[in-house]
Order: sequence, then C-alpha cells, then structure tokens
Amino acid sequence: MAGFDFDIGIIGAGSAGLTAASGAAKFGAKVLLVEREKMGGDCLHFGCVPSKTLIRTAQVRHAMQHAEGFGLPKIELPPVDFIAVRSRILSVIDTIQRHDSPQRFCSLGVRVEFGDPTFSDEHTIRLGGSSFTAKSWLIATGSSPAIPAIPGLPDVPYLTNRELFYLDGLPSSLVILGGGPIAIEMAQAFARLGTRVSVIQRSPQILTREDKDMAGIIQQSLEADGVIFHLNVSVAGIRAIPGGCVVSARKADGSPHDISAESLLVALGRKPNLDGLGLERIGIERTDSGMVLDDRLRTKHTHIYGAGDVTGAYQFTHAAGYEGGIAVTNAILRLPRKVNYTAMPWCTYTDPELASIGMNERRARDAGIEYSIHQEPFSANDRALAERTTAGMVKLLLDKKGNPLGIQIAGPHAGDLLAPWVGIMNGSKLSTLAGAVQPYPTLAEINRKIAGNVFAEKIFSERVKSALKFFFNLRGRACG
Ligand SMILES: Cc1cc2nc3c(=O)[nH]c(=O)nc-3n(C[C@H](O)[C@H](O)[C@H](O)COP(=O)(O)OP(=O)(O)OC[C@H]3O[C@@H](n4cnc5c(N)ncnc54)[C@H](O)[C@@H]3O)c2cc1C
Repeated sequence: MAGFDFDIGIIGAGSAGLTAASGAAKFGAKVLLVEREKMGGDCLHFGCVPSKTLIRTAQVRHAMQHAEGFGLPKIELPPVDFIAVRSRILSVIDTIQRHDSPQRFCSLGVRVEFGDPTFSDEHTIRLGGSSFTAKSWLIATGSSPAIPAIPGLPDVPYLTNRELFYLDGLPSSLVILGGGPIAIEMAQAFARLGTRVSVIQRSPQILTREDKDMAGIIQQSLEADGVIFHLNVSVAGIRAIPGGCVVSARKADGSPHDISAESLLVALGRKPNLDGLGLERIGIERTDSGMVLDDRLRTKHTHIYGAGDVTGAYQFTHAAGYEGGIAVTNAILRLPRKVNYTAMPWCTYTDPELASIGMNERRARDAGIEYSIHQEPFSANDRALAERTTAGMVKLLLDKKGNPLGIQIAGPHAGDLLAPWVGIMNGSKLSTLAGAVQPYPTLAEINRKIAGNVFAEKIFSERVKSALKFFFNLRGRACG
C-alpha cells in the first residue's frame, strides 16, 4: 500500500457501500468509508424499510376493514393518525440503524468520515479541508428521485420518497405521477390507510417491466382498494390551488384531463447521485442513468469501481449488496469476478406481491427465445383459501428443452415463495422441487405443484399411458 492512506476508499454508506466496507475490512484491508448524510442510505431511511413498515400497517388496517370476510363483526375504523404510523416507521429504522452505525463499522476496523468528498486526482479525495488517498475507490452514492421538467412542478410543494414517510398527517387525497414499483406500492398503502389515490401513468400498463397479465393482477387489486388509474395519460402541467394542486394531463387522443388532489407524489424514476464528486476532473464517464463500467464494475481507471444504484442496472438493495461484493473481490483480492444479472430476483411489495426472476414473456419474446408456459392459480391452493389470499398465480417459462427460463409469482408472500426458484435459476434441479415434500397446508405447495405439473405432462403423456396399459394389463377408467 506504499504511498496510500487506505487500501480502499468507499464513498456512500448505503446498501452497496456498507456491504463493501464490511467485506473489505473482513479481508483485512484498511478501509475509509465516506458518507454525506446518514449511514444506511436510501433503503434504510427513505426506501425499503419505511415503505415496507408502512405497507404492513396498511395491510393490518385493510384486514380490520374487511373483518366481515373472516367471519368477524364489521367494525367502523377511526381515521388514521399518521404521526403514530410515522413513529412506528422511525422505531423500525432506529432498530436497524444500530447495525449500520459508525460505531459498529469502527468496531469492524472501518474509518468512517462524514462530508462531501470530491476527487482531486485519481487516488485522492478532498474532504472537509483534508486529503485522503486510497489505492482503490468504490463509488456507491446511490440515486435520488428524478424530477422531470414539468411546467409548474417547481411551484407546488410536491412529495418524493424522501418526504413521504415523514408527513405530519395523512393526505385526504394523493395524486401519484408514475406507475413503477415505488408508485404502485405507495398507491396501495395510502389507499388502504384512507387516502383517495389517483395514479397517472403515460404507458398503457403499470409496472412496465412485468408481463401485462401479471401487472394486471396487481392493478385489479389496487382498484379494489379504491385506487384510480389514469393510464395512457401524459402530464402537461401542474398548478397550485387552495388546499392542493391540479395536474393538467392529456389522454392518448389529446383530450384534456385534469386531476386534483391535496398532495402530489413524484415517482418517475431515479437519477444517479454523481454530481459534485469531481468525476469529470478525473475523466470518469457517465450517462444519464449511471456510471460507465465494465463487467467487473471498473471505470476506465481500473482502480475506481461503481456499485449500487449508480450503475443504473438493477436498482435494488440486494443488487447493490451483490455489486458491492463483486467490486471488493476485484479491488482487494484481485479476483476477476464479473457481474451476472441472469438470476437477479426482485419483488414489488403490493398485496398480492409480484416477484420475478429470469425471463418473463416480454423478455423472452424480445430475445427471440421460444418458450412454453405453465401456470398455477393461488385459488387452487388450500392455504391461500384459508387465508383469503387467492388472487394471483405462478407463471413458469420453459425453453424448448424444458429448462426453466424464468418465473413470476403474483400472490401472497410472492417474494418469499420465489426462494426455491432463485435456487433453480442458480443451478438446482426442477425435479428436486417437483419431488420434495412440502408441509401441508402451505403456500409453498404451489411451487411443488407447478414443478410437478411440468414432469406430469411428460410422465402421463398418451404414449406413456398406452405403454403402461400394455405392460401391466391396465383396464382404464372405472367411471364414465
Ligand atoms: C421508496 C423506495 C422503496 C424501495 N424498496 C425497495 C425494496 O423493497 N427492495 C429493494 O431491494 N430495493 C428497494 N428500493 C431500492 C433501494 O433502496 C436501492 O436500490 C438501494 O438503496 C441502493 O443502494 P445504494 O448503496 O446504491 O444507495 P443508497 O443505499 O442510497 O446509499 C447511497 C449513500 O451514498 C450517500 N451519498 C450520496 N452522495 C454522496 C456523496 N457525494 N458523498 C458521500 N456520500 C454520498 C447517500 O447519502 C447514501 O447514504 C427502494 C427504493 C425506494 C426509493
């Protein structure tokens, strides 16, 4: 390490940066971690953790509202006190925060500094009047809500994921711009808490990364919760009115369409946090969506890496952690590990959830791959019936040889139900899942059933049946 203060300097203490810092320290490296705001990043403070906590509260209220469906007396619910909901969110954040604290990272051997770093050369940052040098650098500064240039938007007090979980009160009505996972999760949660929610989406489908039928299951569920969708509608401008704002939109045929609400949530995608780091000074290339990196996550200066949302690839916490690990292995151990996103899973935490791994129909078609589909509805799963969670299905795509290309699950606990498929997409056998006994009654039986159906089709083909008849002298159906 001759000449450098640290083996590795990591900028950004979020999902990617924290994974990389603890990994590098465990390997015995001298690590500097620089954060400009709070340790834990977006996921902990403005993303996954507050959103999933809010979603759970909304689910409980929804169950209470539908008590009759469970054979219980109908109850009149008082309005939601958002301050109490916010306190619960903060208490969950606070508990997790301890795991991500500077003290814990210091105990791992990582030096944590706060401030706004800027590169002065390829190995050196300036931070609060001091210089720090490192042999390798990892940029893991995450992303922020993208705010498009919509006329009037800067003049209205709009919300993003940074403010949404910290409101002083529940908005009576909320218009959401965007139909991606964040928009859709929050639309359902706020609707279930009692807000009148409208979603404006330019394309004809929500959750555009997903197949239309699977996204349709989610849309139906949100509609049942009272969410109003304005699809194929583009926003022309926004103006403030007393007590709220009006979004002036245009339908696909050009006709005007105004939607008003007390609050406005902008959830129109993300932009990488790369400004102010002095990247242009050291010649690091970037696009609007992220850093320009090779498959080992290196910039053109091969000792400077990028991981997490700044890559512009898969903007999830688990993807950030995976990339942080790849970058550290390359930087510290000098092992040439490449990223491979073929088996990157994800889940949208609506009710029902929508989880996915590998190819869906859309991606298979785009790649010109021939596929067949197997489907299994939750309405045929005994546990789902008992739980009153029968909406949704599992959809398995197979290639010509019968190998799994991908799986999508729209249903209860879909994210958890994806676990065996993560194994299969990483090399475990479909036949193992098909043959394994699952406890009854569980939702997990649906995975065994759909895997079993694939083999049953082969085993119980007409040809096999006639061979069995012949060899064992079977006589066929006993009932007409
Ligand atoms: C509402 C919402 C819900 C989400 N839900 C999920 C979910 O359920 N599951 C999931 O997998 N993903 C979810 N995500 C996405 C997830 O939060 C991100 O993909 C993840 O946080 C990215 O990790 P990261 O390390 O790249 O960035 P972050 O975790 O945001 O960390 C970046 C860190 O860098 C710091 N930083 C930024 N600029 C600088 C600078 N110049 N100098 C020093 N430090 C800097 C930031 O303050 C931050 O602490 C959600 C996101 C949102 C917004």
